[in-house]
Amino acid sequence: MHIPMLDLKAEYNYMKDDIDAAIARCLEHQQWILGPEVAALEKEVATYIGTKHCMGTSSGTDALVLALRALAIKTKGEQYFERSDLIITTPFTFTATGDAILRAGATPLFVDIDPLTYNIDPSKIKKALDGSNPAFHASRVVGILPVHLYGQPCQMDEIMKVAREYDLFVVEDCAQAFGSKWQMTKVDARKVGSIGDAGCFSFFPSKNLGGFGDAGAITTNDDELNILIRMLVKHGGKDKYNVDHIGYNARLDTLQAGILLAKLKHVDDLNDRRRRIAQLYAEGLRDIEGIALPIPTNLFSSADDYHVFHQFTVGIPGDKRDSLQAHLKKAGIDSMVYYPFLLHNMKIFGNRCLVSGEMRQAEEATDRVLSLPIEPLFNEDCISHVVNCAKEYFPRT
Ligand SMILES: *Cc1c(COP(=O)(O)O)cnc(C)c1O
Repeated sequence: MHIPMLDLKAEYNYMKDDIDAAIARCLEHQQWILGPEVAALEKEVATYIGTKHCMGTSSGTDALVLALRALAIKTKGEQYFERSDLIITTPFTFTATGDAILRAGATPLFVDIDPLTYNIDPSKIKKALDGSNPAFHASRVVGILPVHLYGQPCQMDEIMKVAREYDLFVVEDCAQAFGSKWQMTKVDARKVGSIGDAGCFSFFPSKNLGGFGDAGAITTNDDELNILIRMLVKHGGKDKYNVDHIGYNARLDTLQAGILLAKLKHVDDLNDRRRRIAQLYAEGLRDIEGIALPIPTNLFSSADDYHVFHQFTVGIPGDKRDSLQAHLKKAGIDSMVYYPFLLHNMKIFGNRCLVSGEMRQAEEATDRVLSLPIEPLFNEDCISHVVNCAKEYFPRT
């Protein structure tokens, strides 16, 4: 039995009628650039996330770049940030998060992660801002870019509190977390992407809501950001023959919007299935001493957050991770290491970033994480097979 990370063919077959009808409608109307599906998707995503505005983009990466560029224009009146402007983010993420900061002209200031959630640690953000580190000017920090890694929401109540205290903007990288929620107060649970100044989503095919190619979106409640981003997305002006800003051609494709509208109807069902699979994994793997489960075990009874399990990522302490991966592979089970390299260790960020203290937890995470297959349409047999193979690898304790 081969267990892939994801089975996009199965997902297509599961919603084939809706998707085929959406594509047929586009073929019929032939409005390929900013056709009616784009505005319709923007409206539905804004309603779903709970924001005033949503703007489609050509990818999640472009969503991040556009949101940051618009913030540079709004807050500084300049096209780009300056290299001395610092944006706090995590080194344990996909390259695009940090790359977007560079492309907006600013410098990433990396802060270590929380070893339990693998997300940026709010106490380390505070530490970076307290002015005690002579390696950088804390007063030059302009914003925070938290990443809801693996679909697990960051501690957004804490992050927003710090941002307010230091007057910083917050752009959420929601690429892996469509539908995930954070409990801001006892009575206020909010979807990620509706909490900071802007939320950036990716509809890359393997994401929880994925198109049939590249696509993305930005959500915001800020009217000025909405107007600026709508200009930047199509060449930089309200009138494309008379532009105001250094813009892009970064529009969301009509055909992708049509497909995404059809898939959006199923996203809650698929996210629930991911959570159910995560629960089966957690129950099956709970007793293995050599495996650290991805989240505190009370997740399923607590109202604290709503993790959408883009990945089910376990921690394998010691040096057993790679041999467990090889053992699973022999049994036909795929698994992945997200991410094997930290951003500040990459050539591109080498002399273009700053780090706030040691990145010890992030460094440990790259050595121990392993993401297991989590196709929402898997049946229980697939999950049992993975659990049994993992158990076989670890001697009984
Ligand atoms: C996928 C991803 C992106 C980039 O999205 P694309 O649509 O591939 O450009 C950015 N950040 C994170 C955390 C991602 O997982």
